[in-house]
Amino acid sequence: MRQGRWAYLFLVVSAVIFWCSPAWAQDGVLPLSPGTKYDPAIPTIAKVLGYDHGARITTPEDVHRYLRALADAAPDRVRLVEYARSWQNRPLWLMAIGNRERMARFDALKAARSELADPRTVSPAEIDRIAREQPVITALLHSVHGNEISGVEAALAEAYHLLAATGDTDVDVIMRESIVLIDPMQNPDGRARFIASNTHGHAMSADRDPLAAEHDEPWPGGRTNHYLFDLNRDWFAQNHPESQGKVRFMLAWLPQVTVDLHEMGGDSQYYFPPAAAPNTPNTTAAQRNWMTTFGKANAARFDARGFQYFIREVYDSFYPGYGASWPFFIGGLGKTFEMAGARGLEYRRSDGTLLSLRDGVVRHFTAAIQTAATAARNRERLLRDFIDYRRSAVTEGGATEYVLVAGNDPARAERLAQLLDRNGLQVRRVEAPARIGTRDIAAGSFLIALAQPMGRLARTLLDAHTSMGDEFIAEQDRRRKLRLPDQIYDITAWSLPALYDVELIVSDKPTGAKTSPYPSANRSAVALPAAQVGYLIPWGTGMAAAMADIVREGLSVRAAGGGFTLAGRQFGIGTAIVRNVENPANLRERLARIATVHGLDVVPIDTAWVDAGLSLGSGTVRMLKAPRVLLVWDAPAQSLSAGWARFSLERRFNQPVTAVRAGSLARATLEDYDVIILPAGSYGSVLGEPLLSRVREWTRAGGTLITLGEASRWAASANLLGTSTELRDGRPDRPPPQAASADASRQAGPEKYDYDAAITPTRERPEATSGVIARVKLNMEHWLSSGTDGEVQAMVEGDRVFKPLTLDRGTNVGVYADEGALVASGLVWPEVRRQLARKAFLMHEPLGQGHVIAFAEDPNFRGFTELTQLLLMNAVLFGPAR
Ligand SMILES: [Zn+2]
Repeated sequence: MRQGRWAYLFLVVSAVIFWCSPAWAQDGVLPLSPGTKYDPAIPTIAKVLGYDHGARITTPEDVHRYLRALADAAPDRVRLVEYARSWQNRPLWLMAIGNRERMARFDALKAARSELADPRTVSPAEIDRIAREQPVITALLHSVHGNEISGVEAALAEAYHLLAATGDTDVDVIMRESIVLIDPMQNPDGRARFIASNTHGHAMSADRDPLAAEHDEPWPGGRTNHYLFDLNRDWFAQNHPESQGKVRFMLAWLPQVTVDLHEMGGDSQYYFPPAAAPNTPNTTAAQRNWMTTFGKANAARFDARGFQYFIREVYDSFYPGYGASWPFFIGGLGKTFEMAGARGLEYRRSDGTLLSLRDGVVRHFTAAIQTAATAARNRERLLRDFIDYRRSAVTEGGATEYVLVAGNDPARAERLAQLLDRNGLQVRRVEAPARIGTRDIAAGSFLIALAQPMGRLARTLLDAHTSMGDEFIAEQDRRRKLRLPDQIYDITAWSLPALYDVELIVSDKPTGAKTSPYPSANRSAVALPAAQVGYLIPWGTGMAAAMADIVREGLSVRAAGGGFTLAGRQFGIGTAIVRNVENPANLRERLARIATVHGLDVVPIDTAWVDAGLSLGSGTVRMLKAPRVLLVWDAPAQSLSAGWARFSLERRFNQPVTAVRAGSLARATLEDYDVIILPAGSYGSVLGEPLLSRVREWTRAGGTLITLGEASRWAASANLLGTSTELRDGRPDRPPPQAASADASRQAGPEKYDYDAAITPTRERPEATSGVIARVKLNMEHWLSSGTDGEVQAMVEGDRVFKPLTLDRGTNVGVYADEGALVASGLVWPEVRRQLARKAFLMHEPLGQGHVIAFAEDPNFRGFTELTQLLLMNAVLFGPAR
C-alpha cells in the first residue's frame, strides 16, 4: 500500500517533469552563453520558477518573483525599484545592477548623475574627473509590445548572467565600468493579455502551426497597453503612466546607451542598427558613428555564434516617440533590436524550420550583453561624447527663444508646457505682458530657450517641419509612381504646437520677457466673487473635461447656441451658462473648486442683458445632461481607434463609456444610450439588417451616432451618411455597376496607344498619406465648433477623401483648408494635397430628432490633437442636447 502510493507519486512527478521539458531540454538545447560558469549562490530561474529560460512564458507576477529572488541573493549589487503602475495596477520594475563599490553608494551614485545634466555648470577639469569616475549606463528595455514575449525572458537571463557569471571577461568589464538598468517588462498589461490567449490556445500542448489558436491572437491582441495604445509611439506624448515613469527614470539616470528589444514576424531572423533611413533628426556625427561601432560589435558576436541578422533595413528611427529615437535627445544612443517572434513556445516558419521561444531569448540575451560590454569597453569616450552632445546643444541653441503664446485657451498652452517639462526641457513662464517683435504676449505664455542641454529635442518637438531628407523623399516619389510600397515606417509629422493648437513664435534674439521657472510649486485656488445672475464659462477643453465633475456635483449647466457680447466681453458659441436659480445655494464654492482643478476661466455676471448676439434666455440655450455613451468595442472595430476613443473620453475628458462588443450590439437596448460611437472599422458584418434599421430608428428618435475614420466610409456605403468617399480621379468610391463600361472608353486604336495610360489602374483609391497634420476650417455658426477659433489641426493618414455633404443633407462643419494652406506639417504629395483641399473633415447630418456626426479621420489619433478630441466631446455632450 505504502509502496504503491510512492510509485504513484513517482509517476506523477515524472509526468510533470516530462511535460515541463520541451524538446531542446533533452539534447541540442541552445546554450545561453557557451562555456560560462555560474555562481551557485545566485538562484537560477529553474530553482525559483521551475523551468529554464524560454521553456515557459513567464507571467508578470513571476517576472517579479524571479527578479526579487535575484535581488535578495545579491543585495550588494542590485536595486529593484518600482517606477510606475500600469492602468491595470501592475507594477513596472527597474533593476539596477552594478559592482559592490558603486552599489554601496547607490543614492550618491544616482545623485551624481546630475553632473552630466548641464555642461554649463562644470569646468573642463571637472569633465575630466567625471569621465574618469562615472560609470557608463546601459539601459535594456524589454517587450514594450506585450506579445513580443522573448524580450522579457531575455531580461531575466541578462540579470542572472550579470550577477552569477564567474570569470567571464565581458561580465567583468560590464561590472567594472558600468551600471546596467534592466526594465524587464515595459507593458505588463499587454503581456498578461497575450499570455491569457496563448495559454487558452495551447490547452494541452504547444503547437507549431502558425495558424494554431495559441499564435493567432484574438482582438485586440497583446501588443498594446490597457487603452490599446502602442507604447512605442508614446515616448514624447506620454499619455500613459508606463511612458511617464520610463521617461522619468531615463532623465534621472541619463543612460549613454538605450536598447529597446522587440519581436517581428516569425519568418525573419534578427535586426540591429545601424537603422534604415531616415534617421532621428538633430543627431550628431558622433552619435551616428557610435551606431556603426555597436553594430559591428554585435555582428562579430552573432557571426561567432552562427546567428543570422540584417542591418539598415525596415526599421528607421525618424519618429521621436520610439525607444530607438527619444534616447538620442538626452545625448545618448537609442537602438531597436528585433527578433523573429515565435508568439508562443514553438513556431514553424514557412520554410519548415522551427523557431522556438528559446531561440529568441538567446539571441536577445546575446545582443543585449554584447551591447553592455561594448558600452563598458568604451566608457570614457561615451561619457565624453554624452557631455559634448549636451554642451554643443547649448552652443547650437544660440540666442533663439521659442514662445508658446497663451491664446484664447491658456490651459491648453499650459498642458503643452507641462508635457515639455516632462520631456526634460527647461520651460519658463512669462509673468508679465511682453512685446516680442511686433507682437504683444500675454502673461501665462511660456518660453523655451534653445540654448539648453536638450535644446535639440525642443527643436524636434516644436518645429513645424522635420525633413526626411531630399534623397529619401525623391526615392519615395519614384516608388509611388511605380505603385511600389513606400519606405516610410511611421508618421511624418508630430509638431507639438500644431497638435496642441498653440501658436509658436520663434525669436532669434532674447525676448527679455519677465519669466519664472516652470512648473512652480504653488498653484493658487480660484476664488469666485458672488454674482447676482450666475457665471459664464467659455467653452474649451478645460470646460469639456470639467463636465463630469459638474454633473457629479449636481450642478446645472446650459450651453449657448450662438455667440454674444455681455458687459463688453465677447463669448463664443457653446459658452456654458451656470445660473444661480438653477443651482444649489453653495454654487459659488462648488464651482470654484471645479475651476481650480480644470483651470477654468469663470466670469461672474450680475445681469443677463446682452449687448449683442444671442440672449441667455433664448430657446437655443440648452440644458446639458450627462450623456450615456455606448462605444462599440471588439472586431470589426480597429483596436487602436477603439482604444484611443476610450482613452480620450475616459481619461482626457472624464466621460464614462460603456464598451459593448460589436457582436453583442443586437442584444443592446439602444434606448438606454444617448450616443453611439463607432471607432474606425467596417461594420457590414455585424451591422446588417435589421440591426441597421434599429440604429436608424434610434437616431431618428434623438440618438447621436458618431463615426470615426474608416467607420465614416462604412457609414457612407451603408447610406447612414449622405455622401461618399472618392477614388483617385474624383469619382465616388462605390462598387461600379458596370466596371467594364469605364474600361471600354479607354480602348483605342494602336496608333493612339499610350503605355502609361495602359498601365494606369482604372479604379484606384487616392494615394495613402503616412500621418500628417492638416488644417481644417470650421463653421463657427455650428455648435460642433464650440471652443475653437475657427481652425483646428487634424492628424490625417490613409486614403479617405469625403465629398462634402450637399446643402439638403447636412452641414460640413469642418472642411480641409485650401491647397496652399492645407499642410501644417508632414509629407503630402501634390496630387493628394489638391484632392484633399476643401473636402469634408467633419460632417453633421440631422436625421429626425437625432444626428449622424462623421469624422473623416480619427480625432483621437494617439491622443495627439487636443482640439479634434474636443470636437468629439462636443458631439458627445451637445448632440443629445440639440
Ligand atoms: Zn515591437
